[in-house]
Amino acid sequence: MEDLARAEARAAGQKTSENNRSGVGPGAEHAEQHGDQQDYDTGPDFDETIFLTAILVASIVVAPLAFRLLEDVTEAVALACDYVRRLRVVPFTGRVHCAVLPPELQRQLEAQLQAELSTQKPPEEMSKEELAEAIQHKGLITFEPLPSDDPVSQRLQEVGQRVLAAAVKLSGGKPGDDGRLDVTFVAADKLVGKAVLGFVTADKQVVVDATLVRSCMEFDVWDLLANLLAHELGHLVADHPVDLELVKATLAADSKFADPIIALRARAHELLSYAPVTVNTFMRELEYEADRLGAAIAALAGYNPMGAERLYTVLGKIVQDVSVAQLEAHCKAEGGLKGVDFEQLNIDSTHPSSSQRVQALRRHMPAAKRIYEDVVAGRDPMSAPEFHPRACVTELGP
Ligand SMILES: [Zn+2]
Repeated sequence: MEDLARAEARAAGQKTSENNRSGVGPGAEHAEQHGDQQDYDTGPDFDETIFLTAILVASIVVAPLAFRLLEDVTEAVALACDYVRRLRVVPFTGRVHCAVLPPELQRQLEAQLQAELSTQKPPEEMSKEELAEAIQHKGLITFEPLPSDDPVSQRLQEVGQRVLAAAVKLSGGKPGDDGRLDVTFVAADKLVGKAVLGFVTADKQVVVDATLVRSCMEFDVWDLLANLLAHELGHLVADHPVDLELVKATLAADSKFADPIIALRARAHELLSYAPVTVNTFMRELEYEADRLGAAIAALAGYNPMGAERLYTVLGKIVQDVSVAQLEAHCKAEGGLKGVDFEQLNIDSTHPSSSQRVQALRRHMPAAKRIYEDVVAGRDPMSAPEFHPRACVTELGP
């Protein structure tokens, strides 16, 4: 009897708690009478314990994710700040670029260079075939430097120092400010390699064909030589060695480094041109920029910038430009690009053709001439708007 009473009481209690959960009070009883209440019930229905457990689980799962996200965001912001700190504006042309290599890439390149040096034979130990292969495909240049007391070396020094002073002035620094322009000038005979008239070595020797210096001495005309030196210094003023490494790293498929500006420019090239985007695409742009800077540097040193035009005309006669037939064959191998101006593409070359260089240079010649006229007339050419690149940011290239 007592058990039955307790069971009834328990059942009544359950019913009450069910009523409480499903709708509360008389309304619930009313709904139960209609028998379809549970299907349409939208009232509060949670258990505090389940709710707290859910919050606990969520915080255990979500908190580390949130912390990781915060860490990633902080790291990305730090990287962006570091990148912005390494950005520079190229004097005169106003191009914005990253002028300092990321430390990890710098270390990687140094290790690579060490490995290459330890395995590479010096040119004098190479067989004739090995030497030809290295000159053709690895960019090796061999030369015999003249002694520094040779009259040819001495004349080169005089012109070189004058052009160097102008390059330093144009870049707004003092000599040896950051080691960028710590160069020496070397006149050399038997210059063999792809660069015929002059080039800069990794240890910053500006090497010039002694024959060119001798011709300048014979006719006492120095504009051509000064413009050649100014072009080479232009590469250094604009930190082109850094640009080149960043381009290689950005375009390499397996690289961990991508320069955002270069990556964007590569994308723009892809969209605007049929030609494949390679390191050479960027190298040719750097050549145009060095040409433009070179004309300004030569003018600032008091040499006629028109010498640059003569220089590239002479170069055009010496260096065999990539032939149209070669380009056409290349394009066909790449998938047949019809209607492309092969003369303009020059895709296989690190340098623009001489005629393209002269054409591009003519666009910038008025500015270089203004500088030259100012220097000749004894006026200060540095007040010209071209020396304030932030005020007149211009595009490089043709
Ligand atoms: Zn160059």
